[in-house]
Formats: sequence, structure tokens, C-alpha cells
Amino acid sequence: MKRPALDLWFERVFGDADTGAFGSGWMSGVASVFLGATGVGGVCVFAFPEWLSTERFRALYPVAILRSGLEVVIGLAFVLGAISLLLRRRKVLGLTGVGLAVVASLLGGGRVAVPGVRDRSLELGLDWFLLNLLLLTLVFVPIERLFPRRPEQGVFRAGWTTDGLHFLISHVAVQALTFLILFPATTLARLWQPEALQAALRSQPVVVQFLEIVFVADLTQYLVHRAFHRVPRLWRFHAVHHSSRDLDWIAGSRLHLVDILATRSLVFLPLFLLGFRESALNAYLAFVSFHAVFIHANLRFRFRALEPFLVMPRFHHWHHAAADEARDRNFAVHLPWLDRAFGTAYLPEERWPESYGIAGDPVPEGYVSQMAYPFR
Ligand SMILES: [Zn+2]
Ligand SMILES: [Zn+2]
Repeated sequence: MKRPALDLWFERVFGDADTGAFGSGWMSGVASVFLGATGVGGVCVFAFPEWLSTERFRALYPVAILRSGLEVVIGLAFVLGAISLLLRRRKVLGLTGVGLAVVASLLGGGRVAVPGVRDRSLELGLDWFLLNLLLLTLVFVPIERLFPRRPEQGVFRAGWTTDGLHFLISHVAVQALTFLILFPATTLARLWQPEALQAALRSQPVVVQFLEIVFVADLTQYLVHRAFHRVPRLWRFHAVHHSSRDLDWIAGSRLHLVDILATRSLVFLPLFLLGFRESALNAYLAFVSFHAVFIHANLRFRFRALEPFLVMPRFHHWHHAAADEARDRNFAVHLPWLDRAFGTAYLPEERWPESYGIAGDPVPEGYVSQMAYPFR
């Protein structure tokens, strides 16, 4: 089967094959490219806020701190790129990092002018992508290095470019995705709303509402998720998520857009109709964005005290296991006792899965190939 040109190009430029030991200039080179790209992206967000930043976040930004942070990021990209150039025989990483830092500086660096903002009907969530990427890499890359479930698995394991593209696109397209996800709920809410029930729910403390949201959301998610496993046409979409052979914090981003839209719009529908307070819904959104990443992490802790009540990495790792006895188990993503109640839980004492993925590897590598896969 011929691989799409974009997937091949992405692999060649950011190839998985080249590795390097400590002192080879590889780590400084990779960090320099990462920071340089973040610097260019950050300057672009400042220069074109109405196109590249998310309207909801704009008012919340501490602009002076972000500007200084941007200067630091660009400066570090320079220094680390220079170190990589000195240490490494192949100069592609160092040159790319330094080049990106030069471009970010020429565009204005942390002093780039910010134009006035008009309302746009289309905006890209580049700010959301850059901030979430920085935050998640700062949290998960060190703890996965320090306490790995599989020590031999590196940050740039096979398939990371594919997962990186899934992460990039689902963040940058956040506005369009949010609109589509909310569309069924807002349409239905115009026709009918259970007003007495809404008033009763809204009068409860926010913490209680938050716990109710977690329960309602995961119950809906459980049913939709199970349907995605049971119905062959739906499984072809969800198989993309299960195609990862290595699990880590970014592997959870590997999701077909149809899977994202169908699951999230159905999960959101009852939450919206029940009329929970916005503060409780926002708390849930913050929780789910962290928890969904966390349960995929390459992290060896069992969190024994929490394991019976809240989904921990080991529970969801068994959902991804290649072994036959674990197939179609552990559909819940927050509350493992939902699976125990429905008789679909599988969590053998002390053990972790030997391997992950789908027997025979039916799903191809590469973002474009994976989006096309269910339609073949
Ligand atoms: Zn699944
Ligand atoms: Zn998963």
C-alpha cells in the first residue's frame, strides 16, 4: 500500500530512526528544535492573535509574563542549538533549532507588536496547542523518565510523529471541533429543557455537581465506547486509538476525528441538558484533559489506594492490551466500578499487559492514512 506523501515527508524530517546517547548532542538538539518551534509559534500567536489565539483565553493571559517567557524560550533554543552543533556530527538538529530561534527573533521575539483584535468567525487554537504541549511535556516527560513502566521505551518511540500530529490537529482545530461537539446539545436545548430538574441540580454545591458530572459523563462514555467496540463499522474508527503499540502520555491523542466528535458530543449532551453550573463544567473539563492523558502514561505506579475508585494507568493499559483475555474490557475512563457493575472489568492482581495494540496491526501508521483507514 502506498503511503501518503505528507506522512513520508514528516517521517523523513523528524525521523524516528536516529537516536543518540547522552553527550551526542541529540538531547540538546531535540530540545532546541522543540523550543525554537515553540518560540516561532508563540511570536505568531502574539502577531496574529485574532487568527491564532482562542477567544476564551485571551482575556486571561498575563501578557508581560508570557513575553518574558517567550524571550527565555528563544534564548534557550539558541544556546541548546549551539551546544548540539558543537557536539554532534550531523548538524540538522542544531541548525534547525538555531534557525527557528533566529526566525522567532527576526519576527520580534518577546517584543513583537500586538495588533488590535477584531472578532473572527474562524480562529486556530495555536495558543492552546503551545501552552498545553509545554505544560504536558514539563509534567509527563520527566516523570515518565524517572518512573517508567517500560524503561526501554524512549520519548521518541516509534509512532510518536503520528501521535504528535493527532495532538497538534485536535488542538489547533479546537474551535471547529468545539462548535461541532456542542451543536447537538445546543440544538436540542432550544427545543426542550427540564427546567425544574436544572434548578434543583444547580442549587447544589459545586463540588457535588462536579462529582455528578463525572458520573454522568463516564456512564455515557461507557455506553458509547462499548458501542464503538461492538459495532464493526464503528470499530474501524475506534481501532485507530487501539493501534498504538507503545503507551505514553501522548498516545492517548491518537483518535479518529469521527471518534472524537461522536463520543464527545454524546457525552456532552446530557451534561448540557441537565444545566450544571459553568464553574462545575469547567472544573470537569480541566479534570478530563489531565486524566485522559494520565491514564495512558508510561508510569509504573499502581496508586493502590485509588485504584478501586478512579481509573489509573494500569486499568486503562489493560483496555489497550493485545492479549485475548483483555479484549473488550475496561470501557470506563474515570470510574472503574462502572465496568465492575456491568461485568466488563479486567484487572489481574499485580500484573501489567505484556504488549499493546491489535493483533495483525490492521491500522497503518501516519495521520492521513489513519484518517482514511475506516473509509477503505
Ligand atoms: Zn476502546
Ligand atoms: Zn486509550
